[in-house]
Amino acid sequence: MATERTLSIIKPDAVAKNAIGDIIARFEKAGLQVVAAKMTHLSEEKAGGFYAEHKERPFFKDLVGFMTSGPVVVQVLEGEGAIAKNRDLMGATNPKEAAPGTIRADFAETIDANAVHGSDSPESAEREISYFFGNDEICPR
Ligand code: GDP
Ligand code: MG
Repeated sequence: MATERTLSIIKPDAVAKNAIGDIIARFEKAGLQVVAAKMTHLSEEKAGGFYAEHKERPFFKDLVGFMTSGPVVVQVLEGEGAIAKNRDLMGATNPKEAAPGTIRADFAETIDANAVHGSDSPESAEREISYFFGNDEICPR
């Protein structure tokens, strides 16, 4: 499997729970490397643009409200099959349906505050990484 990069966001609920380190440890233990990271408090414009694909969904306003409710930690993860590996580590969107031992099962309670974001395809990974990071901010090892 090819080396890939994916965008991960530790969402405001998980940051508020002091779970940044626990979540990043799961990525590292699974063989993913953090090659870029920043903490930021998203504006409505930045969060809305990030989730533009969901603009027409009934939950869009709540989603943007939640994502701007506190700071987030945005990272680029690199590794073999990083996109699918990260999605496996995250678990299902609804934490009530997330497999035991996944990040969402362990750190999230509701579908709107579900601890983490991860890119879902190579195309979205490319768009999402460049939405947050310039090439000079990514540090492959
Ligand atoms: P993800 O890729 O697993 O994060 O899920 P989606 O791309 O489908 O949705 C993006 C985010 O929107 C999810 O992580 C949730 O935070 C939120 N979301 C998705 N579906 C719902 C829903 O039915 N209700 C609410 N309130 N939020 C939702
Ligand atoms: Mg998604």
